[in-house]
Amino acid sequence: LPAPAPVKAGTATHCPYCALQCGMNVAAGETVAITPRDDIPANAGGLCQKGWTAGELLTGGERLTTPLLHGREVGWDEALDFVADRIRAVQAEHGPDGVAVFGGGGLTNEKAYQLGKFARVVLRTSQIDYNGRFCMSSAAAATNRAFGMDRGLPFPITDLARADAVLLAGGNVAETMPPFVRHLATMRERGGRLVVIDPRVTATARQADLHLQPTPGTDLALALALLHIVIAEGHVDEDYVAARTNGFDAVRTSVAAWWPERVERVTGVPVALMRAAVEILAGADRAAILTGRGTEQHAKGTDTVSAFINLALALGLPGREGSGYGCVTGQGNGQGGREHGQKADQLPGYRKIDDPAARAHVAAVWGVDPDTLPGPGRSAYELLDALGTEAGPRALLLFGSNPLVSAPRAGRVAERLARLDLLVVSDLVMSETAATADVVLPTTQWAEESGTMTNLEGRVLLRRRAVAPPPGVRSDLEILRGLAERLGGAEGFPADPREVFDELRRASAGGIADYAGITYERIAAETGVFWPCPAEDHPGTPRPFLDRFATPDGRARFTPVEHRGPQEDVDGEYPLYLTTGRVLAHYQSGAQTRRIAALNAAAADTFVELHPDLAERLAVTSGDRLRVVSRRGETEGAARVNPGIRPDTVFMPFHWPGANLLTNPALDPASRMPEFKVCAVRVERAG
Ligand code: SF4
Repeated sequence: LPAPAPVKAGTATHCPYCALQCGMNVAAGETVAITPRDDIPANAGGLCQKGWTAGELLTGGERLTTPLLHGREVGWDEALDFVADRIRAVQAEHGPDGVAVFGGGGLTNEKAYQLGKFARVVLRTSQIDYNGRFCMSSAAAATNRAFGMDRGLPFPITDLARADAVLLAGGNVAETMPPFVRHLATMRERGGRLVVIDPRVTATARQADLHLQPTPGTDLALALALLHIVIAEGHVDEDYVAARTNGFDAVRTSVAAWWPERVERVTGVPVALMRAAVEILAGADRAAILTGRGTEQHAKGTDTVSAFINLALALGLPGREGSGYGCVTGQGNGQGGREHGQKADQLPGYRKIDDPAARAHVAAVWGVDPDTLPGPGRSAYELLDALGTEAGPRALLLFGSNPLVSAPRAGRVAERLARLDLLVVSDLVMSETAATADVVLPTTQWAEESGTMTNLEGRVLLRRRAVAPPPGVRSDLEILRGLAERLGGAEGFPADPREVFDELRRASAGGIADYAGITYERIAAETGVFWPCPAEDHPGTPRPFLDRFATPDGRARFTPVEHRGPQEDVDGEYPLYLTTGRVLAHYQSGAQTRRIAALNAAAADTFVELHPDLAERLAVTSGDRLRVVSRRGETEGAARVNPGIRPDTVFMPFHWPGANLLTNPALDPASRMPEFKVCAVRVERAG
């Protein structure tokens, strides 16, 4: 690999966790020392508690180092021979789609690419999707329809510090990615103002100049009312709308019915606060509107994001330097993971799998007949829900995901996994899902391997190997190569990430997410390169919409959308809303962070946050055990009484098994995003 940038000590690489992909130096000796890098703008010398303690992932005692076959330690040949034999047998009986593949938003670009290729070229299955579908797919669908391109932040994160106002809807960055807050803090130090929309008084909401606290599942109505006020008070940037957009008249008509007083009754947000939010946004020279999972993880998530994009377009923000709309992507490679073909409907370069020209281009790179490439498969939850059913796959290969904790209606998912003829899990630790697998393959992790990650800004970064992996583990690329060899397709499956990346560059060339001009050398020299980057002499594209949007006519598209309530509303039997989210100390399903002593000490177990009024009604105080019951399951947690939550809502973190036993898998029609963020529950004292 190219020489790393100057570092304080150790090897310059990036954090194993979230989409900020903070730069860090990893120095390995008897212990692993981590220091933040100053040269990566996203974190600029900062790390959160998760990043500081990530070294323990490399030295912790719970690491898997030997393949397991039905719980028995075996050699790699025996494990891979068994998997290949079972794949052949399942496909002989059930056809190519009898075998499914499930990937993850934490996999490097090289792994995501190779997984998609392996599924389509070796297995010939259409049944591949990934857990990123559960992450930001609603924002991806909405930005594709508005701008013709889905890039989380279509501007450098440092632009936020230069803004005069930021509205953040449904994101708690102070806990999920704390260094992000520095950019907002700089904005506020300059006199800029932060508006947060969240049903809870989160750590981020506490730092806001204005906090709107809607009932869960009503933020679409809130966005419609904000636009209603913008129009009524004459804040529309008419010149921008005329010059750079299409479709505003239909949106203007549709929001007329969402006057603020009506929306106050729907959301519980006082009209005065809505007007104050508009005043802040409309009074700013430069402003950004951002959405996170709270807004997106709904069965109407795509329309909700469209409503916020409509608001941004009416104010003339997207495509203006220092302003814009952006999605705060969550998983480490949530952005890159959705560009290279591990999605059910997609080929590398963010190409559509049912587009003949896209199929021909990618098939030529792969050296196969385009007619042999399967078509679109099932989306993530639909795939998990079909496993082991008559029409569904009978075998599953799972990489970098823990759906027994992270999927909605997790009890049903457990039932489906148990029906499989073969479950293979590649992981570093014995996650809840790995513990149920027929075959567990121990794999390398972040600082033990090289590869690229694309952060929430669309900046492609280089992860460098800083320590040797423990003897016995293999990288996912080696695992895929080993399986491809046994299944008759080893050619085209190198285990060297740089070779895979060079092919990825060719496969993505000419696509929306064009990496053709990005090399490992450039990433190292430039501390990351923004896609699209079609040639090695192209500078990369930090702000892709400055001159035109990525639509055929270069204009952004307004989309009229209507509010509707949650898929499951409260009633006499289930009188409370449940919403879920994260805490500072943990990441995603907690498979990694729950194994780190300092993080466990900071947050050892799940909890149920509830308002003091509700606590009084239930006659409970903090620490009492509570049972939370939905139509799909039940779980328990310690009460945490907090006046910062609405009295009609309870909150549970999803880092531990439990919360997702309750959640509703109702799907967004456009993105197939499940409704993680709101369902109806009842709460009782346990024991
Ligand atoms: Fe940075 Fe996210 Fe890692 Fe924290 S978890 S150090 S915010 S990349």
